[in-house]
Amino acid sequence: MQKNNTESLRQRTLADEISAEGIGLHTGRQVHLTFKPAPENYGITFRRTDIPGSREIPALSKFVVDTSLATTLGRDGIRVSTVEHCCAAIHAMGIDNLRVEVDAPEIPIFDGSALPFVRMIQRVGVAVQRAMKEFIVIRRPVAVGDNGKSARLSPSNSFGMRCRIDFKHPLISNQVIDIKCNAFNFCREIACARTFGFLKDIEMLKNAGLAKGGSVENAIVVDGFSILNPDGLRFADEFVRHKALDAVGDVLMLGHPLIGHLDLDKSGHALNHALVEKVLSDPSCYEVIRATPAEMARIETTLPAFKAAEVLV
Ligand SMILES: [Zn+2]
Repeated sequence: MQKNNTESLRQRTLADEISAEGIGLHTGRQVHLTFKPAPENYGITFRRTDIPGSREIPALSKFVVDTSLATTLGRDGIRVSTVEHCCAAIHAMGIDNLRVEVDAPEIPIFDGSALPFVRMIQRVGVAVQRAMKEFIVIRRPVAVGDNGKSARLSPSNSFGMRCRIDFKHPLISNQVIDIKCNAFNFCREIACARTFGFLKDIEMLKNAGLAKGGSVENAIVVDGFSILNPDGLRFADEFVRHKALDAVGDVLMLGHPLIGHLDLDKSGHALNHALVEKVLSDPSCYEVIRATPAEMARIETTLPAFKAAEVLV
């Protein structure tokens, strides 16, 4: 078992604020995004700066209002969409407290992966806070699914995932990834995996006034037998890696970093959120623990230390 040092069990925010600009996938407009440090025990929040007086929206399951094309948070009728790649980076990098501000109804899509968000976090660095982290530890298996799709969480001593996809498409078909979702593996194996779409679906979305910013600049675009991106794929199985990335973001909505094993078979945002809701609806399925060394020894976790040097992207 890996020894946990006390610093790796303390809450983290960013050392300073940092901003970036990028296109919104659906509006096609330039969007300004800012990460701001937050006090300990604050959690992760999103706020629309283009709407005066709008309240912060916590990244929690009860504020998820739509999972159809992306994960959308909402409060008082105000929405922030496409939060999942940003949330994946925040979760995987061990950030507990952060204010995310955006001047549009969606988070910029950047290159369609989580890498730009990881780089924002790395550029400014993390600040270790005094309070100990809190984790959600899965105590009993919980599963949801229908029509051959399933999502399951079961007890484990760290955050791991097995994710499988099976598209009826010659370039994608059956792909599986098994991964321990620590910061190092996330950065090395899945952070740069891009979202993907089929050309016919993208054209349909554009006709419906959506995906105005969608292009090979921010997604893998697939037609009948080829990938339209001039530089091809970043991994042969980039598609399933991206599904794993989405899931790391979606389970942030549990409200705490996860200690449990996630099994996903042809799952997506809607099923991932159904799983999160089912877990939270039954307190016998989970336990929220304060990460004192004694508690961490009790659950025999093998969490890695979140050392900046571990993460090379
Ligand atoms: Zn995605």
